[in-house]
Amino acid sequence: MKCPKCNLDLMPTIRHKIEVNSCQSCKGMWLECRELEQLEDEVFDLGEHAKGTLVFSSTPTTAKCPECNDLLKRFRYRLYDLEMEFCENQHGYWLEDDEDTRVLELMKKEEADVQRKLLTEDKWAMTLQHMRSGSFLSKVRELFR
Ligand SMILES: [Zn+2]
Ligand SMILES: [Zn+2]
Repeated sequence: MKCPKCNLDLMPTIRHKIEVNSCQSCKGMWLECRELEQLEDEVFDLGEHAKGTLVFSSTPTTAKCPECNDLLKRFRYRLYDLEMEFCENQHGYWLEDDEDTRVLELMKKEEADVQRKLLTEDKWAMTLQHMRSGSFLSKVRELFR
């Protein structure tokens, strides 16, 4: 599997409790799509909010999916103001270096406000796990139709 940006081999890494394939050069990471337990999908069911939280920008990308070589499409996950690129063939997501760290910082701030007991890293890990699910990817795809 090659990095969509620098074409170097991606290495399996654990980052913020999530198993990803990351690039040693640009530090970006590839999140493969996974089939998840239905329970998790229910917990994170975006329902009617999905259209409000997902926004796609028209920024064209030249990055290719490490699996099928199709061009990745960029979208924004408004809930965490997170920009990601994804493969329309449901292979996964590409996250730039420090995007995840930035979101974690953001979530920590939020956590201090509402005093959530759940560890921020766990929450982030669960969010990413959810994004890797087929149902979430389908919702993203629908926005591009
Ligand atoms: Zn790279
Ligand atoms: Zn692909």
